[in-house]
Amino acid sequence: MDSTGECSPVILRVAVPVPLRRLFDYLPPKGLGAEDLQPGQRFQVPFGNRDLVAVLVEVVAESPLAELKPASERLDREPIFDARSRHFLQWAADYYQAPVGELYAAALPVALRKGKPADHWAEQWLELTTEGKGLPETALARAKKQQALLQLLLGSGPQSRTALNARGLNSSVCKALIERGLARWVSGPTAPPPLEAVEPRPAPELNEEQRLVIDSVPPVGFSASLLEGTTGSGKTEVYLRLMERALRDGNQALLLVPEIGLTPQTLRRIAARFPDFRIAALHSGLADGERARAWLSAASGVADIVIGTRSAIFTPLPRLGVILIDEEHDGSFKQQDGVRYSARDLSVVLAKNAGVPVLLGSATPSLESLHNALSGRYQHLRLRHRAGNARPPEISVVPILHQTLQEGFAPQVLRHIGETLNRGEQALVFINRRGYSPALTCDDCGWLADCPHCSAKLTLHRRQRHLRCHHCDYRMREVHSCPQCHSRNLNALGAGTERSEDFLAHTFNQYPVIRVDRDTTASKQALDRLLEPARNGEPCLLLGTQMLAKGHHLPKVTLVVIQDADGGLFSADFRAPERMGQLLEQVAGRAGRGDLRGHVLVQSRYPEHPLLQLLLSKGYGAFARQLMEERKIAQLPPLRAMALVRAECEEPRWAEEFLASARDYFQALAPPSPELQYLGPVPALLERKSGRFRFYLQITAEKRGLLQKLLAQFSQWAEGNRNRRLRWAVDMDAQELS
Ligand code: ADP
Ligand code: ZN
Ligand code: ZN
Repeated sequence: MDSTGECSPVILRVAVPVPLRRLFDYLPPKGLGAEDLQPGQRFQVPFGNRDLVAVLVEVVAESPLAELKPASERLDREPIFDARSRHFLQWAADYYQAPVGELYAAALPVALRKGKPADHWAEQWLELTTEGKGLPETALARAKKQQALLQLLLGSGPQSRTALNARGLNSSVCKALIERGLARWVSGPTAPPPLEAVEPRPAPELNEEQRLVIDSVPPVGFSASLLEGTTGSGKTEVYLRLMERALRDGNQALLLVPEIGLTPQTLRRIAARFPDFRIAALHSGLADGERARAWLSAASGVADIVIGTRSAIFTPLPRLGVILIDEEHDGSFKQQDGVRYSARDLSVVLAKNAGVPVLLGSATPSLESLHNALSGRYQHLRLRHRAGNARPPEISVVPILHQTLQEGFAPQVLRHIGETLNRGEQALVFINRRGYSPALTCDDCGWLADCPHCSAKLTLHRRQRHLRCHHCDYRMREVHSCPQCHSRNLNALGAGTERSEDFLAHTFNQYPVIRVDRDTTASKQALDRLLEPARNGEPCLLLGTQMLAKGHHLPKVTLVVIQDADGGLFSADFRAPERMGQLLEQVAGRAGRGDLRGHVLVQSRYPEHPLLQLLLSKGYGAFARQLMEERKIAQLPPLRAMALVRAECEEPRWAEEFLASARDYFQALAPPSPELQYLGPVPALLERKSGRFRFYLQITAEKRGLLQKLLAQFSQWAEGNRNRRLRWAVDMDAQELS
């Protein structure tokens, strides 16, 4: 009732997880009035013949629709999205031309997306009474456990039941304190799931370069910096110090890491540095309930440190004080399907909204970030030297064109591996393909094992006795005779990690050979266990895919072998050389991180290729700056803004026709000019995937704002002109042409 005595209508405007670019109106659930409604709460709403979980974005007094349905149920008493995160999600929806409801869904952990009430994870907290707060730390000396509990509560404030259990302070100790009138249970917000206990480890003394970097990042206010620092130069130490500064000011720190970077090793390092702060790790290895707890603890402001992969950028953080992006060049920060956002790019927007510093770190920065740094938009910070005693590795090319190779290895490379192991050191062999062999063919009739659903070959996985498509996961049993001519002369062409493992284990049979790829490391813990002998420092041979390139600090690795450096030199994707350079530099960076000097051997059929030469002689920094010149001439990103409009359909003609009419639509709005160019429709590099044909239209523009405006208009148009059997999407700042 308002003051005139009339009922003013209350309408919920909510974001619903459906592919439509708008909000939807509902009446409040029965029995709830204006005072029960706060933006950021979730509601269950009827939608078509389904019930969906929606987020309240706005409470309004009028709706353009006459007939509104009531929402079925309110799921949260308190909002779980604060105003800043709602504003941020709307911004991202507009920028990426994504339905805002799908963005809210992407922001939520699965359990909350499915409608589990947040209260389910509310916790009990033990806090001191006034009497308890008045005691000195030395009190209760005769009951050691009670004293430890008292000291904890005096030093670090109230503790959740979960945190107390994790420290071995069980309910009987708590009860004793409560019975003395010193403490009491109160109900409070969710606390993060406890991490494995680790020994606290003090920080090393910073070196001069590190100190300079840290002093250059202002503690408050928005700033964006790129930290370009050699592998092993102590970037992680810089992140830890910037985190510490934010934590001491009572703020939250957000650290984003690549998908395969959130290892138990990383978590241990952070937990060992910050034993007194609450850490929430958000990653796909968590069970749904644990992940919801971690998320809620961050969103309620309880967690001090939040570490996560890409989607953690959408976690509401009410006390956000600093954002750190590790390995900012990594492709996993860009989501490649559904809502195609870049967490790395969004981190700068979020930092600006929150008025906090953001630091993007990498030994091999993306050309996008490098461009921003060189043009002065970001502060450009450098770490040129390895921290501690480690020296940069020595790199040499091994030409393999006219050599007799053994299973893909040149004789001198095998000799080097043997010598390294015999000296009691470790060697690492990088192979870019998993499985046994990337192609199975018949020597008599030329049959080739193709995926029936994709334009791709099947990979032979001999351990699992099947052939598998790495794009759609189609599998068929391994065959021993040709399905076409029944000949038994089948030939596995080329080598993947399995085949190299067989060969290397046979050749160096006195030493353990450890294969690391997605097949041997189904869980995060598996990788940790696999690497155990390597961490212990025994001589061993590591072999694997790019999973080995990231983050691992293995001081006994003194030899790194890159079996084939040529993959990225001749691709149709203009970003392929950049990715190749990043990978080679990262893998090479695993060598000689301890006191022993490292060596890198790079096998290539084109040792004279100018890009490869530049990379190996001058390093990634010079290589990337050269690529930038080439992009400038070709008018490609990051010098231009680029978006793809993608379409896929079982019927290739429809996808192509849709994009042709899309192009007409765009050109009617804005004809091609030197500032605005259209290319396509063209087939994607992987033309057919999971039975659908894929095409795209590429648009490059000098002005991002113009591109944005065109895409927004197009999206509205396309929503109304859609063939139901066709999927389309806008891929703003697309990273892949595949
Ligand atoms: P990056 O993240 O750049 O690869 P890290 O931060 O992991 O580098 O540092 C590499 C190694 O050097 C680690 O073992 C780390 O403990 C050590 N380190 C980092 N900073 C220092 C320092 N100031 N003094 C001594 N050792 C350091
Ligand atoms: Zn055959
Ligand atoms: Zn397939």
